[in-house]
Amino acid sequence: MNRNVKLLALFVAIIAGGALLLAGITRLHASPALPQYTVVIDPGHGGKDPGAIGVGGLKEKTITLAIAKIVYIKSLVYPQLHVVLTRRTDTYSFPTDRVIAANKLGAALYVSIHANAYTSPTATGVETLISETRGLHSKSYHLAEILQQHVIAATDAHNRGVQMEPLFIRRAQMPAALVETGFITNPHEARLLQSISYQSKVADGILAGILAYLHIPQNAVAAH
Ligand SMILES: [Zn+2]
Repeated sequence: MNRNVKLLALFVAIIAGGALLLAGITRLHASPALPQYTVVIDPGHGGKDPGAIGVGGLKEKTITLAIAKIVYIKSLVYPQLHVVLTRRTDTYSFPTDRVIAANKLGAALYVSIHANAYTSPTATGVETLISETRGLHSKSYHLAEILQQHVIAATDAHNRGVQMEPLFIRRAQMPAALVETGFITNPHEARLLQSISYQSKVADGILAGILAYLHIPQNAVAAH
């Protein structure tokens, strides 16, 4: 070997050694199991309960399931998240039973997905609700604020803020919020909510809110 070849061999050996060391360090850092959070996502309504009926007979239960499934799929790149859907098909179960099931799972969060309706077709925007039994300083309120902020950022929808109402999620033993993703009685929002691209934006916002609440860094690749 001439001098140049020897130097090259040495250089390659150093780089390879460094890469192996780095891989080892990375594995060492990655090896302690990441904390895993069970997050229950509840596609509102289903089966015999269509929820609100919107423009052209659009059913709330269809929109909520579509968005929830996208949240589930997008969550799969986060090993720290174990997302459980309360329904995967067009089936009915009593809302409170869904919350009780989440309690039994020991879920970290409960996020119910809905779509709004109003007598006036001009009503528009996104709002996040919590049970009136939880206060302004509750974890549910904090979760709702973060969800609302991220869904608005992802969709550019009109911001209706966080509201407190008598809701079935009062039975949740974990922070719980209900996202009203838009008005299916508003022709513009009804059209948006039926498009996969907008459903995906809403799902991005919900997932980003969940990640932010749990202090899980957002995966740069998954975010785009
Ligand atoms: Zn609903």
